[in-house]
Amino acid sequence: MPKYCVLVIDMLKDFVYGSLRSERAQSIVPNIKEVVEKARSSGTPVVYVNDSHLPGIDYELRLWGEHAVKGSGGSSVIDELKPEKNDFVIEKRRYSAFFETGLDLLLRELGVDTLVLTGIHTHVCVLHTAADAFFRGYNLVIVKDAVNAFTEEDHTWGLKYMEKIYGAKLISTSEFVKLIKGV
Ligand code: ZN
Repeated sequence: MPKYCVLVIDMLKDFVYGSLRSERAQSIVPNIKEVVEKARSSGTPVVYVNDSHLPGIDYELRLWGEHAVKGSGGSSVIDELKPEKNDFVIEKRRYSAFFETGLDLLLRELGVDTLVLTGIHTHVCVLHTAADAFFRGYNLVIVKDAVNAFTEEDHTWGLKYMEKIYGAKLISTSEFVKLIKGV
């Protein structure tokens, strides 16, 4: 049986309701909520990976403008998806949740072999996290209706890329619920 871990990527106030807000990010909140709740009740670890930028320093801010600045309200997880006591929270400063963070060490200590990705954006932070997971030998599951991007085109492109290049399995929230019941 695979040892799953759910990642919730960048579901932060700035990305959902703030400076980089999008309705497409808001639209996946109920599905992520369902995935996270089912994971918790089955004993599957949930890890939030959150942008936490240093203003005036992080290169990414030159491309996207100021967002998710460390310590600001915009860098906190939206109220609907607040991390709970047994969840893990990891801060990141680049697209990938693995880059210069403690994620890999945490996953190894948890005995995780399969990552279940949710959050935003399909073709940016989700995709770069998937790449780094693939390089490290993790199996990938993408909950396709619990990830999203600014446009349908970017979203669809990102999904196809991850499926083809990293061997990611694309499933729906309801398929995830069935999958996790067997754990
Ligand atoms: Zn960022």
